[in-house]
Amino acid sequence: AEAELIRAQRFESLAMLAGGLSHDLRNMLQPLLLAGESLQDYQEDPRLARLGKLVRDCGRRGLEMVQQMLTFARGAKRAEQVRVNALLDALRLLLQGSVPKNISLDLFADDLELQFSGNHTELQQCLLNLCLNAIQAMPGGGQLRVETTHLFLGESFFDDDESFVEGHYLRLSVSDTGVGMDEQAIAHLYEPFFTTKESGTGLGLVSCQRIITSHGGVMRVDSAPGKGTTFHLYLPLTERNEDGPEVSEAVGLQGDA
Ligand code: ADP
Repeated sequence: AEAELIRAQRFESLAMLAGGLSHDLRNMLQPLLLAGESLQDYQEDPRLARLGKLVRDCGRRGLEMVQQMLTFARGAKRAEQVRVNALLDALRLLLQGSVPKNISLDLFADDLELQFSGNHTELQQCLLNLCLNAIQAMPGGGQLRVETTHLFLGESFFDDDESFVEGHYLRLSVSDTGVGMDEQAIAHLYEPFFTTKESGTGLGLVSCQRIITSHGGVMRVDSAPGKGTTFHLYLPLTERNEDGPEVSEAVGLQGDA
């Protein structure tokens, strides 16, 4: 628990740093982007126009990274009723145009009507992050599968996690048949700025973990080099007080799984 706390505090200070930095960076990048955009239309001098386009593209990419940093820096949002149905619909929409032809997309829910307390935007962001990672892990094509399952998990389900409480959970799984990861990569996965991509930020999974933890959930990965990767997000369906016992039932549960 103490290690958890130190970890949480590290995240907090990092989030504050990222928040401050991204704010300042955005203020610098926005005029740069505007300058690039107006220069790229400069008819009289094609060389200047080319430079303008370069400035614009760098500005855009910088702003995208800043946006990711801001998402990461944002604290826990107020809870609302999240519907599995709406989550998958939004994901399908967001992924439209981002899934190459050689990748098949498969979304499946065992209970579309399920509702739970959480933050729709954050969870959507998290799923999108995982899906985009999955797509990037399959340059030669493959299968991307997002699956939601309603489970009852017993006390000893995560024996490596003392704070785990038995109860109803929604498991969101994102699987790909891509390059996979070796043990070395898995060990560094949740470290801020760990990336193997040329223009990666290494903040995607850190931000996912923040979101899932703030939902009282647990994130797990299962991966093998050359075989593919599955990320499992376990979200508690029942709210708990500090000591653990349930204080309210989730809405829309259909019996025990
Ligand atoms: P980024 O995508 O910017 O690199 P992330 O935190 O999202 O940052 O991911 C960190 C690293 O984890 C990636 O650079 C990649 O090496 C690895 N990774 C994440 N998802 C997958 C996946 N589905 N398959 C293989 N490797 C992955």
